[in-house]
Amino acid sequence: VSDAGTADLPSGPATARFDLEAAPAPLGFVQDLLNTRGALRSGIPDLLASVTAADRWAQQALGWIDISHSGGLCRDEKDLRALVAYREHLRSRLIGVARQPSTQTASLEDVPVLLTPDDEGWALKPAQKGVGLVIGIAAIAAYESGCNGTWERLKECANPQCHSVFFDRSRNNTRVWHSLSKCGNAINLRNSRQRRASTDTR
Ligand SMILES: [Zn+2]
Repeated sequence: VSDAGTADLPSGPATARFDLEAAPAPLGFVQDLLNTRGALRSGIPDLLASVTAADRWAQQALGWIDISHSGGLCRDEKDLRALVAYREHLRSRLIGVARQPSTQTASLEDVPVLLTPDDEGWALKPAQKGVGLVIGIAAIAAYESGCNGTWERLKECANPQCHSVFFDRSRNNTRVWHSLSKCGNAINLRNSRQRRASTDTR
């Protein structure tokens, strides 16, 4: 258990707000960054809405994955913009999310990481501190999950009012809702009401 006391949580601080299980490490960190977006209509706030809130999330999230560091992780508006831009950059690459114009994220294509020798060969490590550490961890996790095939199981809930990001453990990777009872049934009910309404007015 880390000093922050969050390493034993089943999912990251942002993901836990949706009662969701964490994606397998290290992808769970990417999932948590994506889930900072929240869901305004459900009263779940954006954890990157301010420098203070973003730093608090980053400290908790690094505690959760048991990474020790010192100093601030989101120290000013510039850090905040970089973190939000990287979150949107990752989100635009999720399966099922419409590709977005790259203007906002263009400067973040090159995240500084180090290739260092380790016991098993080579390892990628974040090359910076502060917000660069947070972005570096997320970038390396996304890269590694792209290599091992788990990236395509990370999905955004199909309920447009939800947007929570879940890891699909179904055998055929066919889930579209983060929770069938919370989001799947709500959408199905709305669709059937609309169908009924359009039938009634004929
Ligand atoms: Zn949902």
